[in-house]
Amino acid sequence: MSEYSRPKTEAEYEANFKQKKPLMNDSEAYVESSRCLFCYDAPCMQACPTHIDIPLFIKQIHTYNVTGAAKTIYDSNWMGNACGKVCPTQVLCEGACVYNHEHVKPIEIGRLQNYATLSVIRADKKLYDKRPAIGKKVAIIGAGPAGISCACELSLLGYDVHIYEAKDKPSGLTVHGTAPYKIQNEEALAEIDYLQKQFGFNIHYNTTIETQSQIEKLEADYGAVFIGVGIGPTSKLNIEGEDLKNVVGAVEFVNELRFKKNKMDMPKTVVVLGGGNTAMDAASESARMGAENVYLAYRRSKEDMGAYYFEYDLAIGAGVQSLFNASPKKIIGVDKVIGVQFVRTEMKKDKLEEVQGSEFIVECDMVIKATGQAKVLNLLQNIQNLKLDASKRIVVDATTYQTTNPKYFAGGDAVNGGAEVVNGAYEGKRAALGIHQYLNALVKQAVAVN
Ligand code: SF4
Repeated sequence: MSEYSRPKTEAEYEANFKQKKPLMNDSEAYVESSRCLFCYDAPCMQACPTHIDIPLFIKQIHTYNVTGAAKTIYDSNWMGNACGKVCPTQVLCEGACVYNHEHVKPIEIGRLQNYATLSVIRADKKLYDKRPAIGKKVAIIGAGPAGISCACELSLLGYDVHIYEAKDKPSGLTVHGTAPYKIQNEEALAEIDYLQKQFGFNIHYNTTIETQSQIEKLEADYGAVFIGVGIGPTSKLNIEGEDLKNVVGAVEFVNELRFKKNKMDMPKTVVVLGGGNTAMDAASESARMGAENVYLAYRRSKEDMGAYYFEYDLAIGAGVQSLFNASPKKIIGVDKVIGVQFVRTEMKKDKLEEVQGSEFIVECDMVIKATGQAKVLNLLQNIQNLKLDASKRIVVDATTYQTTNPKYFAGGDAVNGGAEVVNGAYEGKRAALGIHQYLNALVKQAVAVN
């Protein structure tokens, strides 16, 4: 049974989705920053994909230089506030903190990071001076963490940057697909707004780029193009009953919940299919929305789940029940879902096999599919000489993030297949430096020819 009752008001919704990492007050930040040992080899910093100078920004907080701390963070990671909130810090910076070796609580790096970055966002404090305009234009497809990071870095270097975003809001999955108890929409959007005001890059919303003619126009108008499209809608399971009412994709479910909040309909019994972090989020959210029974069904064993254990524990703590080695065979119903038929599975000689005659039915009013996302192939297939790997991810150079079509660079989920916000932020920043190098080399070539 779920631990939560159905939230009827926005206040009840906020209580059920209480922030996992609440903002520290000044005293908490001072005390917590005093605990840092400023380790010479800073394993926390090595564990951060963007290598933020963590001991430095903690020291700056402790010496009341909070603006300096925010600048230290943004110098390495343009999504500094979002990452403090949504990063799996338990397995990254905080997981690497030396205090873990002494069985002492690690430094709360994520919350300190939010303390510093939110202080400059709320005060709208200018941290950077752009270089004068250099007269070169770059297009970015997608305003997710990779696209926004690429835009900040290029704007700082003096480029005229235009982002084309299919949705009506920026920040990709941070707004559309992250559990609301990790970060609220308002907070995610405030950071993008802060960065956009500081750097002045343009975002063209509700503008999908996918046709041949749109691509040709971008190529004619811009010196380089960065692809930061992320991943698309939930993939099909290709089983009977998938098109019934109340069978939804996890990312679409989370997106609807984040905007409708307590006004969203929540059926009584929900089955979530999948074993990754998105499945854990969707299950946990269903329980927090007051679904009485939430079943998390995964076709393999608990040990094989892709989700972090702490995400699984969070879902179980919210009252979610788990079903392992249960593979969905068909979704049952006439117009609307009334249940899922599963078959038991087992490993035989390293192969997952169905157990004959072990079918069983779990009755439910809603099925949430958290079984992966489709790639945004329309766009990618229309770009000439753009190589994709066997999993349909864009192939890039590991340092410059340049694709096999030299005019295009790429980063984020379309390259890494779906990782953390912090990975997208890092790749977008690196790609911007790759673009800068590429466009400078073109100028040198032109000068040499003349
Ligand atoms: Fe501070 Fe922990 Fe990093 Fe050491 S590992 S510098 S104690 S946060």
